[in-house]
Amino acid sequence: MAVDDDLSVLEAVVQDLRRHYGAAYRVMRAASGQAALDTLAQLKIRQEPVALLLSDQRMPGMTGVEFLGLARELYPEARRVLLTAYADTEAAIRAINTARIHYYLNKPWDPPEEKLYPVLTDLLEDWKAGYQPPFEGLRVIGHRWSLKDHKVRTFLSRNHVPYRWLDIAANEDALKLLEQCQLDPDCLPVVIFADGSTLVDPEPDVLALRVGLSTQATQEFYDMVVVGAGPAGLAAAVYGASEGLRTLVIEPEAPGGQAGSTSRIENYLGFPAGISGADLGRRAHIQASRLGAEFLTQRATGLRTDGQYRFVQLADGREVSSHVVLLAPGVQYRKLEIPGAGRLAGRGIYYGAALVEAVACKGEEVFVVGGANSAGQAALHFAKFASKVTMLVRGPGLSATMSKYLIDEIERTSNIVLAPKTQVLEAFGEERLESLRLSGPAGEYRVAATSLFVFIGAAPGTEWLPSTILRDENGFLLAGPDLRENGKLPEGWRGQREPFLLESSVPGVFVAGDVRHGSVKRVASAVGEGSIAVQFAHQYLAGF
Ligand SMILES: Cc1cc2nc3c(=O)[nH]c(=O)nc-3n(C[C@H](O)[C@H](O)[C@H](O)COP(=O)(O)OP(=O)(O)OC[C@H]3O[C@@H](n4cnc5c(N)ncnc54)[C@H](O)[C@@H]3O)c2cc1C
Repeated sequence: MAVDDDLSVLEAVVQDLRRHYGAAYRVMRAASGQAALDTLAQLKIRQEPVALLLSDQRMPGMTGVEFLGLARELYPEARRVLLTAYADTEAAIRAINTARIHYYLNKPWDPPEEKLYPVLTDLLEDWKAGYQPPFEGLRVIGHRWSLKDHKVRTFLSRNHVPYRWLDIAANEDALKLLEQCQLDPDCLPVVIFADGSTLVDPEPDVLALRVGLSTQATQEFYDMVVVGAGPAGLAAAVYGASEGLRTLVIEPEAPGGQAGSTSRIENYLGFPAGISGADLGRRAHIQASRLGAEFLTQRATGLRTDGQYRFVQLADGREVSSHVVLLAPGVQYRKLEIPGAGRLAGRGIYYGAALVEAVACKGEEVFVVGGANSAGQAALHFAKFASKVTMLVRGPGLSATMSKYLIDEIERTSNIVLAPKTQVLEAFGEERLESLRLSGPAGEYRVAATSLFVFIGAAPGTEWLPSTILRDENGFLLAGPDLRENGKLPEGWRGQREPFLLESSVPGVFVAGDVRHGSVKRVASAVGEGSIAVQFAHQYLAGF
């Protein structure tokens, strides 16, 4: 929808939009913010999706920023773009934070092939990736509080497989569908495919195969095998493949890594309006695949060496071999060590599950544990759906542990409440989380709770690696200069040379990202390390 009070400009925008997008989208127009809001309200009643709003800034009655802010309440997923005169650029940049606009474009936008379409196409692709057309494609029927159901939904959404979820307890259609498919409502979750075929409580590898993900390597030998498709592994795949290395990436969940589960990365270079981790992962996956990298939906379970060859063992018992291995398995969320937490994990207690669960918490109160950036981002994300978000923070406040921009936004968000000096002592519930015992400044007390999201740090996923790969006391992998102890290289080091900067204690096995000892836990640094590791891989291969 294009909005502008200047009718000649409006006509010109609409013409340009129709010419390029008319075949796939309906282009609507409005001559004021209020008229546009009225139309959006009608569309909402008719349950019609809205992909993109393109609004002029200077309009009488309601500015473009005001309109986009109000439109966000009706269509939070629609991409919001402000069209500004050069003089309004500063207002536009401010609006990225306040009205959460996705982009601003300066007038005039000629030629549209350069100044309009690339930006809008990019935004429409993002919107499309998150859009689930009703009743098409996959349907998942399950219990909202079941761990199995949660795993299936997380797997699908993080692999960008569109699906519709039907909660057996809340949706009458779910029971009817199960009856039609002659399936037992006591055996859930069930995945129903568009052709009517079904899978009951599928393992990830079975589901991966059925939705068209690859679980077996196509070649016997690769130049480089990358373990983990987080930002570090994806960057290595992009650079490796683009520089001619036969590259295989092993990832059991979905490309994107931890970043895939974060609600929004605000500080990654080149994305002034932020980018969701899922979008970043999706883009990098497409980019690496286009450049020739191969992806396997598998978990690495072991690593062995034989002369110059490196073998990565996979969960299904197979092995893949290569000259170079890049270890980028990142870190895993630390679990809450309190009575009841283990039993209720996935049934009201979640670790880094923000994107999938947020919509299910609509209108409810949500608790978030933790005071670092991850907890802040999650709280802001939930605040869009939940009636109230309570942040349980061990310290006296957030300033020592969270970035200022997040603290500012939390303060601006009226339905987020901070509970400082507060810890969770116990979780209660039979089938699912029902209440929590907390300890706060006023002593111990109990609160009713249905959702608790935990963000209390993470540990490296390195337990599967052989002891020859050296690590620090917390399990983070040592590489390059960190391998030296008291100035000496480890005894097992077989190379005639110094280890390369990101090389582990086994020559030809490199380390990148959060899993590396001393790494900066950021998307950009993981991406940087993944790409640098490829340069060292080239140097290593040149020595053959
Ligand atoms: C909630 C949250 C919010 C964050 N927000 C920001 C932010 O705003 N800005 C920012 O810069 N950073 C942010 N970070 C940090 C950022 O996400 C990480 O630094 C980054 O994802 C690290 O990338 P990585 O590739 O090293 O590891 P990961 O992203 O952890 O990826 C590792 C991948 O390896 C896979 N893997 C693990 N074990 C195996 C195995 N055995 N075999 C095969 N694959 C395996 C995992 O499934 C995973 O996909 C945030 C983190 C969290 C948790």
